[in-house]
Amino acid sequence: MSAVTFRFPFPVAGRPDVSPDLTPHHVDASLISVMDAAAERGDGAFEAFGVIAGALQATDDHLARLAESCALLELPEPDLDQLATICRRIAARATPGVESWLKLVVSRGGMDRSEPHAWAVLSETADFSDARSTGLAVIAGDRGFPASYVARERWMLFGAKTLSYAMNMASLREAKRRGADDMLWTTSDGFLMEAPQSTLVFRRGTTFCSPDPGIGILHGTTQRAVFRWAKQQGYTTEYGRYTRSDLLGADAAWFTSSVRLATPLISLDGDPLTIDHALTDSINAFLLARRD
Ligand code: PLP
Repeated sequence: MSAVTFRFPFPVAGRPDVSPDLTPHHVDASLISVMDAAAERGDGAFEAFGVIAGALQATDDHLARLAESCALLELPEPDLDQLATICRRIAARATPGVESWLKLVVSRGGMDRSEPHAWAVLSETADFSDARSTGLAVIAGDRGFPASYVARERWMLFGAKTLSYAMNMASLREAKRRGADDMLWTTSDGFLMEAPQSTLVFRRGTTFCSPDPGIGILHGTTQRAVFRWAKQQGYTTEYGRYTRSDLLGADAAWFTSSVRLATPLISLDGDPLTIDHALTDSINAFLLARRD
């Protein structure tokens, strides 16, 4: 198996169970209309779960975030128990011993826009071992609005994991064009945000830090797991508003995400950042060992 997909009705809270048969399809199978809101407008939400040894990772955190995305997008409230069961059944089909991931997609609906529907894609994870040890050269990219804009303009869907990722992909292309591996978004008044597909985490002495999700970023499930681990190890953790000088002065920094896990950062706009290989390996060993 390299990638298979499953289509099913979107389980809505308070409605009867959807009881899907979960027949696997080839990823190239035509399962949705070209007029689907997801394909036409990127109008929907998604989650990407790590799958290790046939088990979903961080299930509750991902599904809670999906419910928040649906609320922000004014989609029906998902039945999280049913979604957990469906996703666990799909994850159990992963090839044993192969790091995998599951993308759960909720679309606003088909041509008549009547009912949201869902699908999931189970794929083998690309080999990120090089990035996890070599690290990423990062450039900063200004999103063009101040931190204060986020609380004022809630309709902008800040914090929702929507399907509209064209700007995220453009950020990665711009980073490559400028000889870097990834981009770190900032507000126009200079506060660090997140990367197009991951959360910023850094260590300052005995404290693990990450930008406050209220600055208009996704609240990363992997970042939350890293904070839980850090506390168990005796570190303190904090969310805050940070600037590039905070990051340049850090003792170690990572981009974290469910699929790539913790990838160390080696530079910001060409200025070197400190890598802590031992700490990176410990964090990734913990992240890979999760079975929840
Ligand atoms: N921020 C963005 C924009 C993302 O797309 C992602 C993951 O895809 C993350 C952060 C990291 O989130 P998580 O750790 O839950 O995968």
